[in-house]
Amino acid sequence: MAAKKVNTIKLKFESARNLAPAPESKSVAKIEERYELFINGKFEKPSSKKYFDTINPANEEKLSSVADANATDVNKAVVAARNAYEKVWKKTSPKERAKYIYRIARMIQERARELAVIETLDGGKPIRESRDFDVPTAANHFFYYAGWADKLEYAFPNRSPQPLGVAGQIIPWNFPLLMAAWKIAPALATGNTIVLKPAETTSLTALKLAEIIQEADLPPGVVNIITGAGSTGAAIVNHPDINKIAFTGSTDVGKIIQKAIAGSNKKATLELGGKAANIIFDDAPLDQAVEGVINGIFFNQGHVCCAGSRLFVQESVYKVVLQKLKDRIESLIVGDPLDKNTDIGAINSKQQLEVINKYLKIGQQEGAEMFQSSCAIPKKGFYCRPTIFTNVAQSNRIAQEEIFGPVLAIQTFRTEDEVIEKANNTPFGLSAGVWTDKGSKIFNMTSKIRAGVIWANTYNKFDPTSPFGGYKESGYGREGGLHGLGAYLKL
Ligand code: ADP
Repeated sequence: MAAKKVNTIKLKFESARNLAPAPESKSVAKIEERYELFINGKFEKPSSKKYFDTINPANEEKLSSVADANATDVNKAVVAARNAYEKVWKKTSPKERAKYIYRIARMIQERARELAVIETLDGGKPIRESRDFDVPTAANHFFYYAGWADKLEYAFPNRSPQPLGVAGQIIPWNFPLLMAAWKIAPALATGNTIVLKPAETTSLTALKLAEIIQEADLPPGVVNIITGAGSTGAAIVNHPDINKIAFTGSTDVGKIIQKAIAGSNKKATLELGGKAANIIFDDAPLDQAVEGVINGIFFNQGHVCCAGSRLFVQESVYKVVLQKLKDRIESLIVGDPLDKNTDIGAINSKQQLEVINKYLKIGQQEGAEMFQSSCAIPKKGFYCRPTIFTNVAQSNRIAQEEIFGPVLAIQTFRTEDEVIEKANNTPFGLSAGVWTDKGSKIFNMTSKIRAGVIWANTYNKFDPTSPFGGYKESGYGREGGLHGLGAYLKL
């Protein structure tokens, strides 16, 4: 009986891996040879005269050149944003602001396919993710915040909500378009103007959004999108005429930003790293829990700050859960991100792949046991097989540090108190997941685990109406929902 079951599972894996290729067409993706900076409603050459390449991490081919903004360019963008704020946007009626934001939302929907393909080409994530999650959720954020633009006094009754001024926004490479939407939509709805910088490896969808903003006829200077690496970001953070910094990225850079703005009047929201615990109790629906764990860490290459990178399994079901996980990992398809069958696409950059590989070595040196899927991976491009570690100690670096790759560290527990203590034993506090049949356990976990978001019997679910953000070294401030509006207002 057991042998028969194993054979059936093997057959299922083989058939999944033998699916005929189903690549999404690239023809909708219009990518220019070179991109300039979007300042004051126009695309302008950088005063640095420098450009850098953006590549497709799935095959290492160059996609385009992108302008590298220096401090002079940053200053131009801030001056444009300040003028637009004082002369136009501050005086634009909330109802008019809402119309622009709706227009942007609709245009994102109209160009959804193109945006999804470019997101996948530039960032390496599977087209299924960019098509079904990133792009629609980005449009939804604009729709949601458009609705609030003329209702701010109802959102914050008896306070008199006023915009902050110019917002400097710096975003990472894991959800390039969606992070831009998270930042731009609430800032516009509340009457602020913007200088936004995407991450250097994934500038293209932010630049496509600049085209949409231009076509939507948003007054010049209200949104400025400038590209560059860390020094461009630092020039935004240090610019004296910026009133608010909104940053999503690593905890290390978050700390640098905190130091840089200490003592200034700049407000800040920082959404930083995470080391989320997914917790499976023995009364959980195990197949669904395993699927949730897979979704939480492997889809999207683990390039998610709220990725469920630690798994705690109650001892009595450990063996069966581990086997189910190994079986499921074997069935995952790693490869061409443009293929609609792909589960795990390319790692975003060579540098990030090196970080992940470093942690794979560290995990083994620390004495943990490594299991990787046996799947083949493409020769060119940056790829990592889905990996799990067992025999992990609480103090191991793979259980404490953010890896940002498809790597899961598994530990066991016996009691609720024990797992609460273990789950909280990290410097981070962004998210967690609980899998159980008992509502009382869910409430016990959600009240005692220090994490900004806790999912119960599901994972990685997002909605524009719901706030997101962390505790401890995962940052402060919330994005999304009403909280996300408040972060751009003087109340
Ligand atoms: P990740 O590890 O996710 O790449 P980073 O924190 O390095 O995260 O990058 C997130 C964003 O912060 C990117 O847009 C990057 O260019 C920018 N950045 C990097 N260094 C700095 C800095 N010193 N000041 C401001 N922004 C920075």
